[in-house]
Amino acid sequence: MLQMNNEEIRKAADFFTHEIAKLAGDKSFRLMEVCGTHTVAIFKAGIRQLLPENVQLVSGPGCPVCVTPNEYLDTAIAFSRKSDVMIATFGDMLKVPGSSSTLAAEKAQGADIRIVYSSLEGLELAKRYPDKKVIFLAVGFETTAPTAAAAILMAEAEKVANFYVLSSHKLVPPALRALLSSGDSKVHGFLLPGHVSAMIGLTPYEFLSKEYNTPAVVAGFEPLDILQSVYMLLRQLDCGVAKVENQYRRIVPKEGNPAACEVLSTVYQAADAQWRGIGHLKNSGLVMREKYQKFDALLNIPVTVEETKEAKGCQCGSVLRGLMLPTSCPLFGKTCKPEHPVGSCMVSIEGTCAAWYKYGAGRWQV
Ligand code: SF4
Repeated sequence: MLQMNNEEIRKAADFFTHEIAKLAGDKSFRLMEVCGTHTVAIFKAGIRQLLPENVQLVSGPGCPVCVTPNEYLDTAIAFSRKSDVMIATFGDMLKVPGSSSTLAAEKAQGADIRIVYSSLEGLELAKRYPDKKVIFLAVGFETTAPTAAAAILMAEAEKVANFYVLSSHKLVPPALRALLSSGDSKVHGFLLPGHVSAMIGLTPYEFLSKEYNTPAVVAGFEPLDILQSVYMLLRQLDCGVAKVENQYRRIVPKEGNPAACEVLSTVYQAADAQWRGIGHLKNSGLVMREKYQKFDALLNIPVTVEETKEAKGCQCGSVLRGLMLPTSCPLFGKTCKPEHPVGSCMVSIEGTCAAWYKYGAGRWQV
């Protein structure tokens, strides 16, 4: 697909949009793109405008920053206030509102908070600053969790005693199960995240079709990938079948990445976890196995955390469950904008509200 010239791409796009409209007919379909990268790609390519009105794309809980609960932010902020602690974090986390502050505000007041691009950079900071307790904020899905696990294994091998991880890793399949079992999602099919699937493969999603009779397609991120994936979903729905298909075969092996999964399961095991706006989901997060708990910031560095409060009026929970478009939130574009976000979905560029705000002009202004 990547080798096609512009004319071939245009013809393929015409084919898929025509077939999608034909398959949809006069029925209405609600498809969820689970991944924040898909949300942005859909906006950038104007895919919503190519689809018929009765084929609706809604975003799911696939932006790691968005699903990280307030309580986690409050804990990170409390740690950042300790004089012997250095926080190593992805830049996205700085602006996410906690109950009464943000990491950006704490940094402005002198907290030692460093932006890193990987967990290994966090480990490097620990080696460079042996007098500090360096806490890496590990936020993300199956895609990034193996790299945090690798950093912990490296810290163990190199006997780095001042490296800690504050984990908020999340697992995608249990979140999809929670959406479907809640009974209010009304989603007819899923566009599954390409990057997460490259790690875990297709098998962990099979319950979608087997238990919930819901079709799913692992989708790539090019505009044609997405159009083809929508077409594949509608074809399944038209035939009355439900299975997990792989549109992104050029990147996603059916069995995923066993080596990365092994690193992950060496360090972590599944545990219940809290999702912002979605709740406490069984086996949807990761905690360190006993052998590695000396790297767990929560278990090793005493801290007092303020009582968690949710932002008044924020509808992130409904947005993350695909029940509501960002434009229906009364705060959208008014008190809540990317430069002063009220909820987490307005922070990361992959957040649904931020994507709607940045790229949705012309639709959300109506
Ligand atoms: S617009 Fe802001 S307040 Fe409303 S749901 Fe989105 S992030 Fe939350």
